Amino acid sequence: MTISRADCAALDADDPLKHLRDEFVLPDETIYLVGNSLGAMPVAASAATARVVTEEWGRQLVGGWNSAGWFDLPLTTGDRLAPMIGAGPGQVAVGDTTSIAIVKAVSAAMRLRPGRRVVVSDLANFPTDRYVVEGLVKAVGGYEVRDLGVLDEVLADDVACVLMSEVDYRTGERHDTAAVTARVQAAGALMIWDLCHSAGAYRVDVSQADFAVGCTYKYLNAGPGAPAFVYAHPRHHAEAEQMLTGWHGHAAPFAFEPGYRPAEGIRRFTVGTPHVLSFAPLNASLDIWERVDLDQVRAKSVALTSLFIELVEKLCAPYGLEVVTPRDPERRGSQVSLRHPDGYPVMRALIDRGVHGDFRAPDILRFGFAPLYIRYVDVYDAAAILAEVLDKEHWRDERYQQRLAVT
Ligand SMILES: *Cc1c(COP(=O)(O)O)cnc(C)c1O
Repeated sequence: MTISRADCAALDADDPLKHLRDEFVLPDETIYLVGNSLGAMPVAASAATARVVTEEWGRQLVGGWNSAGWFDLPLTTGDRLAPMIGAGPGQVAVGDTTSIAIVKAVSAAMRLRPGRRVVVSDLANFPTDRYVVEGLVKAVGGYEVRDLGVLDEVLADDVACVLMSEVDYRTGERHDTAAVTARVQAAGALMIWDLCHSAGAYRVDVSQADFAVGCTYKYLNAGPGAPAFVYAHPRHHAEAEQMLTGWHGHAAPFAFEPGYRPAEGIRRFTVGTPHVLSFAPLNASLDIWERVDLDQVRAKSVALTSLFIELVEKLCAPYGLEVVTPRDPERRGSQVSLRHPDGYPVMRALIDRGVHGDFRAPDILRFGFAPLYIRYVDVYDAAAILAEVLDKEHWRDERYQQRLAVT
C-alpha cells in the first residue's frame, strides 16, 4: 500500500519540528528542495542584517570593530557553530569561502607532515575541492595530487593528508567518517573533511578529524555568499601553520610588526577583514539552530528521504528513473539523487510546476530535504508531480531543452 497524501498530512501534524517552518520565508506554490544548495531565508535574517547596517555600521562607524564585536566575529560565530559539527569552543573559525578554507586546512596539514609529498583528493568530489588542491600543490612545488580511488590502496607512507567530502554532492552518499579517519590516521596521514553537505543536515562529529571545512549557505541557511568555516583539532593548534598568513591571523594584528607570527589557537586560521554584513544572517540562522534538537533533525531527514525514495519507486517505476542515493539511511545525507537520461529537461519541467530541485551533469536530478522547513506533504506532492511530468512527457517541451547558465 502506498502512503497517501492524508497520511503525510498526519505525519506533519505530529512533527516535533513543524513550528520551525514559520521561521523561514518560503514563496507560495513552491516546493523548495534546493536547501542543499542555497538554504531558505530565516524570517529574522532581514531585520538582523538591517540592524548591523543601520545601528552598528551607521551609528558606530569604525568603532564597531570594538563596540559591536566585529573583530572577533570569526571566533564568536565559530563557537556558536561548533556544536553543530561536534567541535568545542575555540576550535572553529568562520570566514572566507570553502575554497579558501580548503587552502588553509590542506596547507596546514602539508606542513604538519614534512617529507610526505602526496595530497589525496577525491576525483568525484565537488570540483572546487580538487581545483584548489591542484593549484596549491602547483604553487608549493614538489608535491603531487593522488586520486582517492580505493582508500586502502592509496594510503602509502608518502601521503600527507586526505581531503574528502562526508556526503557526496552528486549522489548523496555519506561516508563513515569515524572509520575513514581512523584508517587515514593509522597510515600516518591527516584527515580533512569537507562538511558542505553535512553541516545542518544532521549532527556531525569531527572530534577525531584533524581539520574540517564547510559552508553555511546550504543546510545552515545563512544566505548567498555567507562565510565558510574551518575547524582544527586542538592537538594541532600550537603547530599548525596555514599558508594564508594575513594580518587577522597574526599574534598581534595591531602591532603592525614587520614579520608574521601566528596567533594562538584557531585565530591563526583567519586571514583578513571579516565580511561583517554576511555574519548577520548567519547569526540569525544560528539563533534558530540553538533551539533545535539535532537528533530530531536527523530522524526527520531520514523519514523525508526514505519517503521520497519509496514514492518515486512506486509512482515513477515505469519511466526509467534510477535511485542513485544509497537506500540504507545510514549511508546517505539529506538528499536524494535520481538518474534520468533526460534529467535536464525533466528538472526544468518540474521547476515550472513548482518543484524546485537542481540538475548536475551529466544526468543527475538532485532533491535536498531541509528538515527545518520541508513537510511530508511537500515530499508527496513532489513525487506526484514528478510522476506526472514523466507520464505526460511534459519535459519534451521545446523550451526545456536549452541549458541555462546555472543549472
Ligand atoms: C558547496 C560546496 C563548496 C563551495 O565552495 P565555495 O568556495 O564556498 O563556493 C565546496 N565544496 C563542496 C563539497 C561543496 O558542496
